[in-house]
Amino acid sequence: MMRLPLFEFRAPRTLQEASRILDGERTNAMPLAGGTDLLPNMKRRQQVPRTLMSLRHIQPLNDVELTLSGSRLGACLTLSDIAADPRFRNGLTALAQAASLVATPQIRNMATLGGNICLDTRCNYYDQSYEWRKSINFCLKKDGTTCWVAPGSSKCMAVSSTDTGPALMALGARVRLVSLSGEREVALSDFYNNDGIDYIKRRPDEILAEVLLDSLHGWKSAYLPSAGRYRCGKFAVRPPIKSASHRRSCRNCGSNSQAARQH
Ligand SMILES: Cc1cc2nc3c(=O)[nH]c(=O)nc-3n(C[C@H](O)[C@H](O)[C@H](O)COP(=O)(O)OP(=O)(O)OC[C@H]3O[C@@H](n4cnc5c(N)ncnc54)[C@H](O)[C@@H]3O)c2cc1C
Ligand code: SF4
Repeated sequence: MMRLPLFEFRAPRTLQEASRILDGERTNAMPLAGGTDLLPNMKRRQQVPRTLMSLRHIQPLNDVELTLSGSRLGACLTLSDIAADPRFRNGLTALAQAASLVATPQIRNMATLGGNICLDTRCNYYDQSYEWRKSINFCLKKDGTTCWVAPGSSKCMAVSSTDTGPALMALGARVRLVSLSGEREVALSDFYNNDGIDYIKRRPDEILAEVLLDSLHGWKSAYLPSAGRYRCGKFAVRPPIKSASHRRSCRNCGSNSQAARQH
């Protein structure tokens, strides 16, 4: 049985308090949402934060506001909440479908939108126990010097497995990042780096507070996973189809998104 390493647990009730904790602890602390990605990683010693800071008691992170002029989705909404809520339809159908396809019902009941957007990148040489990784002398992403996928590469090629990310990118979503020094908005299509180690633009002292969407009035959207799980094939479509703006986003191309307009 793999055990968690020892850690300090903090459970702030406001974003301000959470920001202060992250500011003080810097890289020693990590936000904990549903824990479905982070806790197994800690058991495998892939990530070993000294402090875990739960986000689940910060009320604004659980809020959702859906209006004709735009939407704000709190980072701690669970994937089950999103998949089951009948308000997530038409423009937001792609997001609800993506959320409903993640893992299993038990995981979706715990996993959050913010956690799914920020989750660690995956690779068969990395998602293994500490002993397994030690037996191959670790790898570039953690504790080693060689990438076993591409031994000549100086860059890690592990990819994000997020399903909500591509759907939200196609819908033109932005994320609001909050820290003690202020807040900023980043387009989700700019949020991911083409690097398996430094894979997102979130700084360690920042909390992803919410996902912001402009008006999707008149949109219909769909999330289409392709036959190959890690291949392209997710897009959102805005009618009328003859002059449609098709947006496609892909989680396999270093998590970059692409947009294409077709007439
Ligand atoms: C068996 C299994 C199958 C899976 N299959 C899929 C799949 O098919 N599709 C898919 O998309 N995912 C899949 N996942 C991954 C799953 O989506 C993630 O485990 C989950 O979405 C992460 O959400 P969480 O709330 O549990 O995040 P956590 O585990 O709590 O956190 C994940 C990461 O995000 C950070 N974080 C979390 N919330 C915030 C925030 N608000 N601000 C800043 N940082 C934050 C944490 O510090 C951590 O680094 C699978 C996982 C498992 C275990
Ligand atoms: S460095 Fe290479 S082997 Fe290690 S996780 Fe990244 S892609 Fe996989």
